[in-house]
Amino acid sequence: MSLPAPRPGVQALEGYHSPQLDVPVRLNTNESPFAPPAAFVDAWLAALAAVDLNRYPDRAATDLRAGIAKHVGHPADRIFAANGSNEVLQTLLLAYGGPGRRALVFEPTYALHSHICHITGTDVVTGERGADFRISPTEVGILVGSERPSVVFVCSPNNPTGTVETRSTLEAVLASVIDRGNALLVVDEAYGEFAEYSAADLVGDDVPLVVVRTYSKVWSLAALRLGFCIAPPAVIAEFEKVVLPYHLSAATQTAGVAALAFRDEMDERVHTLVAERHRMDEALRRMPGITVFPSGANFVLVRADGDGHALWQGLVERGVLVRDFSRWPRLDDCVRITVGTAEENDRCLAALRELLTESGKP
Ligand code: PMP
Repeated sequence: MSLPAPRPGVQALEGYHSPQLDVPVRLNTNESPFAPPAAFVDAWLAALAAVDLNRYPDRAATDLRAGIAKHVGHPADRIFAANGSNEVLQTLLLAYGGPGRRALVFEPTYALHSHICHITGTDVVTGERGADFRISPTEVGILVGSERPSVVFVCSPNNPTGTVETRSTLEAVLASVIDRGNALLVVDEAYGEFAEYSAADLVGDDVPLVVVRTYSKVWSLAALRLGFCIAPPAVIAEFEKVVLPYHLSAATQTAGVAALAFRDEMDERVHTLVAERHRMDEALRRMPGITVFPSGANFVLVRADGDGHALWQGLVERGVLVRDFSRWPRLDDCVRITVGTAEENDRCLAALRELLTESGKP
């Protein structure tokens, strides 16, 4: 007996892996280190208890979309919610990518952008970033003109570099996309709340712009899988044609609504993490042989002078797991450190100092 082959594009895929190890300090996947407020859990469970579990959930996620709309200051018909922002991206590529179409990404960036392109049969065109990891609007303009992509991805703050694009860059990129016509600009703001501004106010009914956000980071709800986007209603109407019916469970919808009542607590967590990021940044900058890239997110990318993989391994041996990017193209010897609690960050910094001392870089 033999098993059939999947479609060719799938056979060639490697799958997405983010290795997990059982260590005391996990600073590798950019989650919030804080649990959501206990009062949120109570409110959510109370809302869930009132749900008719024998019925399908509200297919249009009406309450959730209305709540998010109020939170971001846009009308509800510009909101689309899904199981994590990854599902938003997949839905977008099912509707606007696909065979015969191209998406433009600027590497190094979030691996799932090109991965979901491959899954959906969308060709990927790769643009480069400058040495400071910023994208150049001129380069974007040239590629948008020559490659004629249907989708252009900009991740700001960018994962894994932390780079925040300036507002004028985002406006220039949007202008190129509008100029090209028949294309969508996707600004992935999974870490948007940690940065100083958002592209969300550029979204309009006739603007080919989609801004993607998530509950996984600032809302401390990665386990629930909830993300959303702000987009023109006509674009969302296309998303609704390709997404599976009832994809968003009642548990997720009620959690998303309940969380919105805890905005102050969420802001407090963001402030704490941004303050910790500054503290980490300063401490890392004082370490010899370490280059720190400026970050507007809840993580910091550093480059080790020497062997980045050995640094990652040394940290693991000291009970600290960070993300190893040392063998990624364009990220030689880099590791990405998620900002954790003050105590976790201290342990990470202490482990790094120990390693650098051992390697003769006191
Ligand atoms: N976009 C970016 C840039 C990310 O880093 C992540 C999570 N690592 C996501 C989207 C997906 O987040 P989620 O599916 O949990 O909302």
